Amino acid sequence: MVNHGLLLDLVERLAATPVGSTVELDVSASAAGGAAASDASSATSATAASRAEEAAANIDLIARWCRASGNELAEVRAESVVVRHGRRRDPLALLDPSQLPGTRLWMYTNFDCNLRCDYCCVSSSPQTDRRALGVDRVARLADEAADAGVQELILTGGEPFLLPDIDEVVASCTTRLPTTLLTNGMLFRGGRLERLRRMDRDRLTLQISLDSATPELHDAHRGPRAWERAVGGIRLALDEGFDVKVAATLPADQAHEVAPFTQFLGGLGIRPENRVIRAIAHEGAADSGVELTVDSLIPEVTVTAEGVWWHPVAATDESHFVRAEIFPLADAIADVRERFIRHREAADRAAEWFPCS
Ligand code: SF4
Repeated sequence: MVNHGLLLDLVERLAATPVGSTVELDVSASAAGGAAASDASSATSATAASRAEEAAANIDLIARWCRASGNELAEVRAESVVVRHGRRRDPLALLDPSQLPGTRLWMYTNFDCNLRCDYCCVSSSPQTDRRALGVDRVARLADEAADAGVQELILTGGEPFLLPDIDEVVASCTTRLPTTLLTNGMLFRGGRLERLRRMDRDRLTLQISLDSATPELHDAHRGPRAWERAVGGIRLALDEGFDVKVAATLPADQAHEVAPFTQFLGGLGIRPENRVIRAIAHEGAADSGVELTVDSLIPEVTVTAEGVWWHPVAATDESHFVRAEIFPLADAIADVRERFIRHREAADRAAEWFPCS
């Protein structure tokens, strides 16, 4: 027998519950009888089969009421249901479209580098194993990315210009999608300059690292004469007709560097929209910086030779590892999105469990 007293109990409790939060309701025959304050003796004498039937009827009633009333039957348990006041928020729908995981695809071409910056988020250095993704995998990723709705490819390292086939790697991307290539800009000479010159100026943006308007700060973290060579690389890339972004990594106590730095970039001819200034993350070689976790960080799908990661800033941090299977890329993107939803739901539940007042 359907118990409408149970429904009244639910309506009353949801009315006292914030939108988005949940209540758990006992739908077992005995609880239903208690809630209705009706025929207790018949409930206690019901057979197990009739109790199960009654619970099922109660669940059906609640499900129909939820559909009609704009609330959500969030979970059905053995003898209870969980009902959300209103509909569940879709964490993906709350993001700016440009932040939707899978809008941009990051690929680590390699992990070795000619520098050994003291805050490198993936601990790159001349001694670091290359761990190259390779042109074949990059080309397949670029193909699958275009089919999966990715709008931009971003190649990073390590220092990508250490690779003898970096021009082929870049071409396999620019033929499919607009591409950004991150570099320290210090190696544009000889054969590497020839490889740069073979790259597609219309589809490629070069993002060159530079931390300050003068050598002191940049060289303190990156090594002697690194600033001078990076500025030379920026000027050369602009002269070669490339779109150039400049990205700075600044310690928290160096905010006073920002104003002279942006003025310096203007003098170099770097457009305001092509200037990126970010904090040091406590990842890789950095012994301090902003703490980033999969709970606090909106993911950006990142592929390395080892697999798929939550975000490029933590592509050697095991707690940010998503899966070893890179292909199909669409599955990897779906995996990251599902994990993001689960993390946000867990955070919401935690907020419900631990109210501050
Ligand atoms: S921060 Fe960039 S330039 Fe410095 S070691 Fe890491 S990959 Fe190389």
